[in-house]
Amino acid sequence: MTPIRRQYLDIKRRYPHAIVLFRLGDFYETFDDDAKLCARELDITLTSKPMGKNLRVPLAGIPYHALDTYLARLVGKGYKVAICEQMTDPATSKGLVEREVVRVVTPGTVLEGHMLDERANNYLVALARESGDEKRPSRGATRGGRGPEQAGIAYVDISTGEFAVAQLDADDVAAELARLRPAELLLPEGAEPVASPAAVTYLEPYWFEVENARRELIEHFRVASLEAFGCERLPLAVAAAGAVIHYLKENQKAALSIVHSLSTYNASGSMLLDAQAARNLELFEGGRDRRPENSLAATLDLTRSPLGARLLRRWIGQPLLDITLLRRRQDGVAWFHESALRRSKAAEALAKMPDIERLVARIGSGLASPRDLVALRRGLELVPELRQLLEEGEGESVVGEMRERLRPLPETAGLIAQAIEDDPASTFDEGGVVRRGFSPELDRLRSALAGAREYLAGMESREKARTGIKSLKVGYNRVFGYYIEVSKANLGLVPEDYQRRQTLVGGERFVTDELKEYESRVLDARERISELESAVFRQVCSQVAAASEQVLAVARAIAETDVWMALAEAAARYGYCRPELTEGDEIVIRDGRHPVVERALAAGAFVPNDAELSNSETQIVVLTGPNMAGKSTYIRQVALIVLMAQTGSYVPAASARIGLVDRIFTRVGAQEDIVSGQSTFMVEMLETANILNNATPRSLVVLDEIGRGTSTYDGLAIARAVVEHLHNVGARAAKTLFATHFHEMVELASSLPRVKNYNVAVTEEGGRVVFLHRILPGGADKSYGIHVAELAGLPKAVLQRAREVLAALESTDGRSPVEGRRRREERQQLPLLAPPSKLLEELADLDIDSMTPLEAIARLYELRGRAREG
Ligand code: ATP
Repeated sequence: MTPIRRQYLDIKRRYPHAIVLFRLGDFYETFDDDAKLCARELDITLTSKPMGKNLRVPLAGIPYHALDTYLARLVGKGYKVAICEQMTDPATSKGLVEREVVRVVTPGTVLEGHMLDERANNYLVALARESGDEKRPSRGATRGGRGPEQAGIAYVDISTGEFAVAQLDADDVAAELARLRPAELLLPEGAEPVASPAAVTYLEPYWFEVENARRELIEHFRVASLEAFGCERLPLAVAAAGAVIHYLKENQKAALSIVHSLSTYNASGSMLLDAQAARNLELFEGGRDRRPENSLAATLDLTRSPLGARLLRRWIGQPLLDITLLRRRQDGVAWFHESALRRSKAAEALAKMPDIERLVARIGSGLASPRDLVALRRGLELVPELRQLLEEGEGESVVGEMRERLRPLPETAGLIAQAIEDDPASTFDEGGVVRRGFSPELDRLRSALAGAREYLAGMESREKARTGIKSLKVGYNRVFGYYIEVSKANLGLVPEDYQRRQTLVGGERFVTDELKEYESRVLDARERISELESAVFRQVCSQVAAASEQVLAVARAIAETDVWMALAEAAARYGYCRPELTEGDEIVIRDGRHPVVERALAAGAFVPNDAELSNSETQIVVLTGPNMAGKSTYIRQVALIVLMAQTGSYVPAASARIGLVDRIFTRVGAQEDIVSGQSTFMVEMLETANILNNATPRSLVVLDEIGRGTSTYDGLAIARAVVEHLHNVGARAAKTLFATHFHEMVELASSLPRVKNYNVAVTEEGGRVVFLHRILPGGADKSYGIHVAELAGLPKAVLQRAREVLAALESTDGRSPVEGRRRREERQQLPLLAPPSKLLEELADLDIDSMTPLEAIARLYELRGRAREG
């Protein structure tokens, strides 16, 4: 085995879970399995290299200058990459070049702008769960008063400094992970895997132990206790947060400099949106191809800065339950809604706003360039403009408070302005980074350099005059430095003091003592300048980093202003209204619309509809109607309006009164989950079970086509039982919208008082269905399935045959088609509705008035006995 191979294996052993990029001259090489993986993922050639006697090792390499591109691709695919550099110069070092891993890049710890999506947060998340022996019973089974099983979730975005933690019910972890969409998830080794698309990193369980985690946090924040962060008494929260800090210390230490504080949030302070709800309501991706532009987020995102874009997505993913906070958000939106001028002025300032959160993160972790500093300065200089705009707001209002939060930080902006050129060089070699006048020493060196250069420039004409050689030239190259070049014909005129350096085809190059002297002055000065510039730059960076807490606070205020402005702009552009929020249980929407669907249609084409739900009157709406009528659109639109209201946004309606809901559950359409081996129907039932186990009277449940994945009887039976459960079990009596094709469901309204029927109106004109998209009271009695099939372009012969079959089915017993249908439906419902009829008849015949109490009770026992025997 060659020494290099041994060195490589040594390093690889320390980074078994990362792809090691091993610097060899102008390449980063990967070996063995890493090489195979890189060849596949990066589409680069896989070769092999002899690395010992009879040893050939698979190898794939990338040129060093292309590192950024390839790194971004690997990390984007969720891999961790350890970058191993040469620590000594191969040209001068004897023996083996020293190599060291200088950085491990993981999906949750990247800071480089090109690897991050500027409109989304990049979260590193740690999850701590109770270990086996401390496990408590799951939700619903809280015997022993210990409460449901708990978990701790901590997340950090090191590109923005946000660090937060929560302790929550273990059952809610999936929803919280779905909301955060982590880039990387930390788990203790040996933990049960978690369903998440994030890259998972396992840490030693030691770092998840509460005492170790607490120590890490206390050391990092330099505090005596965690009381101030609000998690002192939440051991699982502490465990998760401590693991995050430990991981950053190991992998991206510099990033810790912008992690100033930890906020403990209460998952119960916001609405839990599980992955299904986010998907079914198309919050972040939508349409058949699930593209971001067909989502609610895209519809509302009229923000102008990346800061605002990220915050808006957080608001959408985490609707609030706190009416006071929501009204404050509404006030901010309202202020911008009042005036188009305010919006356009703010938009103009915000559009120029750079991503100061991420700039400050880069500056704090030593990854910034001089241009990043200037960008930060320009961002801070825009703050007074925004602030001035908010001057119009009343002092006491949320707008007045926001104005106070928008502090321009003149010291920080001023420092950068004084120290760094407006358009600085990107490297320090040329001396174009630090502004003249900032460092006297630097200025002195610069004039020395300029003087020496000027002297050298004048030398050519002086030497020409002295020697009489007209073609004499003073030049410079990297290898030989400064020289005097004389052509062959003039070599005879060369004076004594010229020292020959190099022979060319057409002449020779010389130096003189004087030239050498000035050359070394130039080189010294340049070197010193470069050193000094980079020292000044680092110094400014660290002073700026020291103020990062204030800068981040301003960044958050800017983000919020941007979101207010964007939501107000959306409201004005699309005609939304400010919903009235209440703690009551009513949801009343007048002329509501679906925010995304309406935009896909021509202006005015969307038909608005009302909605009225409450726990006491219309708790459950059963919505029937033909395919394509707009059932799904309607039930989603109600859920979206509620959700929008709970982000602080205005809503697409003429008016709306929204009693806040604690959770929105959805169960929509048939989705296969072939990957995890679950059938369509199984997925449907799992999701339904989740709803029935967790809904509360304050929840909103949206069910579309429950029970469609199985035979009609089974499906109908389940659909019916689900609605009965939601109606009859007080603890689960959620407001529910149920869209269905089962016309039999319409019957439920006659026996369950809080179930109301609605249908989507259609008319027939000349044998064709016309969709009116209007929601009307009452159940639908026809399906129009064949009409929709016709619209879809099924062959004429098939349609004709289908009509024949339908007619035959409907004319059973020679009755009219409609009557025949009803009969059949009644028969279908029999097993569900009819208790054993003999007993019923006997009950009906009982002459209670003529019985003594004793006889009555004896008869009751007898009937019960027979009923139990079945
Ligand atoms: P299916 O039972 O086949 O799933 P559906 O009744 O759920 O159908 P939707 O998918 O909600 O029907 O709507 C079908 C199409 O009708 C929508 O894509 C939209 O273009 C249009 N539509 C729905 N609601 C309205 C409305 N209120 N105004 C105008 N067009 C609408």
